[in-house]
Amino acid sequence: MFNKNFFIFLTCLLIYPLPVLAHSFFGKIGFFDGISHPVLGLDHFLAMISVGILSAQIGGKAIWTVPLTFVAIMTIGGLFGFLLIIDEFYFVEIGIILSVILLGFGISIEKKIPAKLIMVFVGIFGLFHGIAHGLEVPAAANPILFVLGFICGTSALHLFGVAIGYFSIKTAISSILLRFTGITFGIYGIYLLYLIF
Ligand SMILES: [Zn+2]
Repeated sequence: MFNKNFFIFLTCLLIYPLPVLAHSFFGKIGFFDGISHPVLGLDHFLAMISVGILSAQIGGKAIWTVPLTFVAIMTIGGLFGFLLIIDEFYFVEIGIILSVILLGFGISIEKKIPAKLIMVFVGIFGLFHGIAHGLEVPAAANPILFVLGFICGTSALHLFGVAIGYFSIKTAISSILLRFTGITFGIYGIYLLYLIF
């Protein structure tokens, strides 16, 4: 069902610059300087994989509608960040960490959350991620390519997550493993929250 597009997006992932994966808006605040790249890069990675996994768990149309909701609202958020309409970095970072926590635990619950509710949360999280990515744009040489880069990269991660979810829900054991993976993501998110407070 998603195989052809999956490979298109994988190609997309290969050609776009990898640094786009990392949020780095804490660069000016000393302590956060050291942890921002690996930590915030990983939080983006986990949240995006989680969006894909959740979509696959819900199944049906959600495989497309949930990630598309995220990407669409992330793009709008990116515009806000780029135009610096929002410069509350701390607030944005908490939103991103909450996305890791809630999406992770969402995976562990497995399917019991209505798709529409997931889309509302995914939309809110998309806004936070978009703002964070938008804030990075001024440092990039070409804003349009940069925006396309984070859209492509994020979509590729979503599809990677969809593939993980799609295959994991096929057997009972892998479903359980997937749910534990979600719990691990959630706990990691709580740890991140502990780090910034
Ligand atoms: Zn992000």
